[in-house]
Amino acid sequence: MLALQKTHDGEGLELRDVPRPPAPGPGEIALKIAATGICGTDLGIQKWNPGYAAMMNPALPVTLGHETVGRVTALGEGVQAFAIGDAVVVNPAIACGECAACVEGDAVGCLDRRPFGMVLDGAFAGAVNVDARYAYHLPDHVPLELGALVEPLSVGLHALNVAGYNPGDRVVVFGPGPIGQGVAVLAKQMGSQVAVVGFRDAVRFDTLRELGIEQLFDASEEGAMDRLKALAGRGFDLAVEAAGVGSVVDQALAVLRPKGVLSLAGMGEPNAAVNIGLVVRNRLEIRGASRIPPAVWPEVIKLLAADPQAFAPLISHRMKLADAQEAFALAKSGQSSKILLIPEE
Ligand SMILES: [Zn+2]
Ligand SMILES: [Zn+2]
Repeated sequence: MLALQKTHDGEGLELRDVPRPPAPGPGEIALKIAATGICGTDLGIQKWNPGYAAMMNPALPVTLGHETVGRVTALGEGVQAFAIGDAVVVNPAIACGECAACVEGDAVGCLDRRPFGMVLDGAFAGAVNVDARYAYHLPDHVPLELGALVEPLSVGLHALNVAGYNPGDRVVVFGPGPIGQGVAVLAKQMGSQVAVVGFRDAVRFDTLRELGIEQLFDASEEGAMDRLKALAGRGFDLAVEAAGVGSVVDQALAVLRPKGVLSLAGMGEPNAAVNIGLVVRNRLEIRGASRIPPAVWPEVIKLLAADPQAFAPLISHRMKLADAQEAFALAKSGQSSKILLIPEE
């Protein structure tokens, strides 16, 4: 079968013909992949940004793809929670089960994770076996391809939860890419007024309008930040940084209410300057959002199932797995939202 793989230490990805997976082992389910989204992480692995080599080199060659949905085609020994034909999504954060954190029962804090699509073979392929403990049912009425959004939406919901989100809170999102769009639509679906700040992101703003997000601010425009401040009034309850841009941190802090929280979900530039006086005076908090607790998955699936069409505009392109290189170039261009790769076999 065709698979998109990282094959060697260095830049690049390869489409390769690889053997189909064997029959699922004990506790595993076999999936026929329906669709898999391209993530910023996949772009980072293609470019081979610092940090990936240490974790991934021992696993190469490995099939990428961790934002996936598929149907169960076979059950390994002992699997009772699934039946053949079920639509499922996969939580890629596979814990090792052996490290000090795992032994203490903190699988989310695993010190030696084996992420699906980075260390374990992922879903940019026609089929894959996964540990059934990391699979979740997608309700039948949800269009199958929307299942590929559950993983990036879980990143978004976690970013809100980390900030102590309460339904109805006033939220500002910095960064209108797929993660920021997910945060915005989730908060909207939970009753929030949401503003989104971008930087020359016309195409992504169009998607946000389709998602029903009207308060859009282009930071490259004169006076945009003043208009955001005016909208904020006494301040937003929370902000999410999903741009990975250092200068955004101070912009976000400046529009929070006293005791407001900034949740950092983006990783790009390593450092940011912070107005310490503002943080101290307004008792602001900055929190990092990674390591998604498993409980977030059912929450996301519930929100998606309640109104699937509200999330549909997040998918901007569907392309063949065979056209993966072209799809990755499009994902890098910023002229897309979520791009799905569809295997043909
Ligand atoms: Zn991802
Ligand atoms: Zn572990």
